[in-house]
Amino acid sequence: MATTRTPRPVAACAFCAGPMPPPAGTGRPAVFCSPACRKAAHEARRTARPGAFEVKVVDRVVVESHDLPGCVEAVIASPAACRRVLAALAQLPAGTLEHDPKWRPTYTAALALVDALTAPASRVPPPRGTRRLR
Ligand SMILES: [Zn+2]
Repeated sequence: MATTRTPRPVAACAFCAGPMPPPAGTGRPAVFCSPACRKAAHEARRTARPGAFEVKVVDRVVVESHDLPGCVEAVIASPAACRRVLAALAQLPAGTLEHDPKWRPTYTAALALVDALTAPASRVPPPRGTRRLR
């Protein structure tokens, strides 16, 4: 009389001991609850072998600092960055640029910008589709 072996379903994941999904009905009974656990178990077995190396994923934050001239160069190369700097300066509390000694050179530079923008040479019609500064 031939007997058939019916494999019993595994109660818990062999790696995380978590609950198992319902059995598929055919094939070998699952040992791990998910492909992630199957892969993690494989990696654990692999690194346990002599001479094996362990792969660790490590997040590394790299802070690149740059000097002020490099920063200015990067801002000048970007119209969006220039626009944001000008908008941020415009948002400073009233009188800050004019009366705070720390900002006074910036105020002088802003006046030079206004002079440059309003100089007669710049009073040519702007390209179509652009707004003129007031
Ligand atoms: Zn698992």
